[in-house]
Amino acid sequence: MTDLGIVLDLSGSPSGPTIAEIARATERAGLDVIVVPTPAEDGLDGWTVATWVAAATARIAVGLSRTRPVMPQPTGAAIPIPAVAEKARESLDLLVGPRLLEKGWTEAPADAGPDQVRALAKDGHTVVVPVTSVADVERVAGLLPDRPRSTRGAAARARRRPGIDYDNVPASLADTAVEPGDPRYRSVRSTYMRGGSPGLVLRPRTADQVADALAFAREHRDLPLGIRSAGHGLSGRSTNDGGLIIDVGGIDSVEVLDVERRLVRAGPGATWKQVATAIAPHGWAISSGDHGGVGVGGLATAGGIGLLGRAHGLTIDHVRAVEMVLADGTQVRASAEENSDLFWAVRGAGANFGIATAFELEVDEVAEVGWAQLTFVSEDVEASLLAYARAQTQSPRDTTVFLVTGSPQRGQSVIQLYGMVESADPDTIIERLNAFVPVGQLAQQQVVLTTYASVMSTAADVGPDGHHGAGEPVGRSGFLPELTPEFARDAAAALRGGRLRWFQLRAMGGAIADVAPQETAFSHRDPDFQVTGLGAFHAEMDEVWQPLEAHMEGLYLSFDTAPGPGRVERAFPPPVLDRLRDLKSRYDADGLFRDNFPLAPGARA
Ligand SMILES: Cc1cc2nc3c(=O)[nH]c(=O)nc-3n(C[C@H](O)[C@H](O)[C@H](O)COP(=O)(O)OP(=O)(O)OC[C@H]3O[C@@H](n4cnc5c(N)ncnc54)[C@H](O)[C@@H]3O)c2cc1C
Repeated sequence: MTDLGIVLDLSGSPSGPTIAEIARATERAGLDVIVVPTPAEDGLDGWTVATWVAAATARIAVGLSRTRPVMPQPTGAAIPIPAVAEKARESLDLLVGPRLLEKGWTEAPADAGPDQVRALAKDGHTVVVPVTSVADVERVAGLLPDRPRSTRGAAARARRRPGIDYDNVPASLADTAVEPGDPRYRSVRSTYMRGGSPGLVLRPRTADQVADALAFAREHRDLPLGIRSAGHGLSGRSTNDGGLIIDVGGIDSVEVLDVERRLVRAGPGATWKQVATAIAPHGWAISSGDHGGVGVGGLATAGGIGLLGRAHGLTIDHVRAVEMVLADGTQVRASAEENSDLFWAVRGAGANFGIATAFELEVDEVAEVGWAQLTFVSEDVEASLLAYARAQTQSPRDTTVFLVTGSPQRGQSVIQLYGMVESADPDTIIERLNAFVPVGQLAQQQVVLTTYASVMSTAADVGPDGHHGAGEPVGRSGFLPELTPEFARDAAAALRGGRLRWFQLRAMGGAIADVAPQETAFSHRDPDFQVTGLGAFHAEMDEVWQPLEAHMEGLYLSFDTAPGPGRVERAFPPPVLDRLRDLKSRYDADGLFRDNFPLAPGARA
């Protein structure tokens, strides 16, 4: 392909209308680039002209040879301010799309003929020719009338990341793939919790397309590879810097397969809010997580400790079959009868084995539920934790209540309890919740009789602009067999220390513990609670978490983001880890799936 464009002549500071007229003529003539040259010290400012040109046009790339703004100083020296330039660049992206081109063109003389331009354009160089009028533009446009064109403009191509064979994206994915220079990039680069700058986002819509995406990923084995469903991952890197993302968010249908068996098929890109809404008319629900925006793909491959967990178990306990595309592109179905070892592994360690493209779920009959949000204040967080644990462990399994708190402020902790009582009887709901009154001084309460779907639906929809997470979550997790006075003491000390910013206890027990540990790769079935902490820095959190971890066993992958070795070994007990690693050798020996606590194929615990 050959890109051709013009360089504006800014000597003599032409008027705004003249520049706009030339810019529009350049775009009309089908040229690719308008370069704004470095102006003279006393001439027009390059950024302002570039913005003016971009606003006057719709598609064409705008080349700016000096992208750093220059601030005149009393001494006459020029000081570039990178932060201002970055803001200007981002603002221009937002206003007119990613059309700014900062380098990568060759300037031909104003009177260059076709042969000279063709020679300069050799090896894919963008060639620009200086112009002073609309007539000049028309002459330039006539220089190479039959030049080969690319589907992406010069500005988009300039933002491509190294090491990716962009021109050989599989045909089935080329139309929907998103590159850093595409207008849609902003909506796919980040996730709910993380900011990212992937080099290419592939968006398959079918299992065959997932296989195509994996073939491309195998060709790019050295680049980071993220698998994304609904982008709510903390542990998995479903975004990255400069790597590939296979985003199956578009595979999001939810359909009822069998009313008698309450069998539902859900795509990985569906959110739990979508699932809940689709099955609610049948009087059904499935315990998922506490946030309706979380995706089926990430949660149903990890566990799913949700608001009906004590009544109905983990989400993975409802999975009856999974359709997956393996690292080599093979499409398989895993269930108790077919590929049963894979079926075992997927329910707790799924991210290591393939890309799930559909789940068959046996959901529950769930009528109305009591949905409670209670806020307490407490001057003794240690006593409050114990009171909560006592109430929760003594509750019948129809009651699942989670606790969230943070660092006490001026000696006072704000403790939020939220949860569900699976009952349509107001008296039963009140009776269950009364058990939690000793947690502290009740400051606010909201208890409603509603449906599971309406609770899930409080999660905001992700709009066309996608997620806007920034930074990197710092999370630690563990399973707590029993909330002892010693744990309450250490947790209170950690909270008072101020570095544990967010602390959560998720109630387990009940139906979660009904499933034998060996039935799924998620084997921590007996603990009373799952504990999560969020902080600001990994080193700080390691220190904070160490005394708490002494009371815990294992960890829940979904909430842990600790870098470094040892976490996988902690997540899975030795026999489980050995079996998972053997299966990893069988299904993904080259370790293609490694964005989420990778298992070393074949290693022994
Ligand atoms: C606000 C919030 C609330 C949450 N509440 C709960 C809760 O109550 N209970 C609970 O158990 N968890 C909860 N989680 C954790 C959540 O279950 C996990 O983070 C889950 O991985 C998110 O799934 P996703 O598809 O949205 O994420 P994504 O970011 O799309 O994916 C996360 C990771 O999952 C893997 N993955 C994603 N899709 C697939 C696929 N199709 N096939 C194979 N692997 C895949 C990949 O490794 C990926 O990096 C919560 C998370 C958030 C942000």
